[in-house]
Amino acid sequence: MKNIYDISFEKLETYFTDIGQKKFKAVQVYDWLYKKRVTSFEEMTNIKKEIINHLKQNFSIQIPKIIKKEEDVDVIKFLFELSDYQKVEAVLMKHDYGNSLCVSTQVGCNMGCSFCESGRLKKIRNLEVHEMVGQILAIERIIKVRISHVVLMGIGEPFDNYDHIIDFIHIINSGKGIAIGSRHITVSTCGIIPKIKRFIEDGKQVNLAISLHAPNNQIRNHLMPINKVYPIEPLMEVLKEYTEKTGRRLTFEYILLDGINDQVQHALELAKLVQNMNCYINLIPYNETSHLQYKKSNQTSIMHFYDILKQNHVAVTIRREFGSKVSAACGQLRANYEEGK
Ligand code: SAH
Repeated sequence: MKNIYDISFEKLETYFTDIGQKKFKAVQVYDWLYKKRVTSFEEMTNIKKEIINHLKQNFSIQIPKIIKKEEDVDVIKFLFELSDYQKVEAVLMKHDYGNSLCVSTQVGCNMGCSFCESGRLKKIRNLEVHEMVGQILAIERIIKVRISHVVLMGIGEPFDNYDHIIDFIHIINSGKGIAIGSRHITVSTCGIIPKIKRFIEDGKQVNLAISLHAPNNQIRNHLMPINKVYPIEPLMEVLKEYTEKTGRRLTFEYILLDGINDQVQHALELAKLVQNMNCYINLIPYNETSHLQYKKSNQTSIMHFYDILKQNHVAVTIRREFGSKVSAACGQLRANYEEGK
């Protein structure tokens, strides 16, 4: 059975016309789901009993259950249990510009980045659309905040679950539903070139972030196995095409790992790599995890790296650190939970 949160507004209209009802029913149902936020079909009191029954026979309305919540200054981390008892997590970050939610897109991840906790547990399955929409709804239900920004940077590789994330973006972006603006949605990928090409063709107006983390193939191969399939040169080629065709500015994420990719020569190499590109670099202080040997760069190296990029006319920011106390590193909460800690 489909879940009602898998269904776009347009598909719901079609559903109603197919069963001989007025299209307008979709407006009413979407309103109950996304504005009034009911948790059962019975609560949709302006819908005829007969239609309610039809909906009940065809759709479930369940969303993931929050089973754990950890709080720190300006950040709350949630662990979800899905209907098959799999677990994923989402992180809510309070910024001065709004509340941003980092959602998971898969149960586990197959990309195998050596510094990342999520990949220690291999991919079990893709998340369904409703399981991503449900992360937002479940959190807004229990804490009374409005999520204004969504980043697809939780567990999983969004472009390894392409069709579902595109539908997910469409649904949360819909003015009839949660209505999160395109400019407030960011997809992050490790760089799967064929999917980046499809993404360009699909013409979604959302932001794109690329996990780069290294200025050359040698280091990137070591950190991110995907680089052996899609190395830096063809990646940069397709990203140039992205910026040219969309006119949008691209974000590069660059985790600073002590002694590995944070030296002066790396900063210079990185500046050269991105020169003349419509992009900015987001330097990320590494969130250390107890299972992996990597250390975060010290403050002096971080500032030095930042200065070199600036001097070389690269737009650069340093990501504010969130939640080192709440196991906020991608995949940590789930990994710890699964290992019974
Ligand atoms: N698979 C996608 C999205 C999920 S990871 C991607 O690769 O972009 C989201 C971001 O968090 C990526 O940039 C990833 O490299 C980074 N990340 C993973 N583990 C981290 C850690 N321990 N500390 C800081 N950033 C981390």
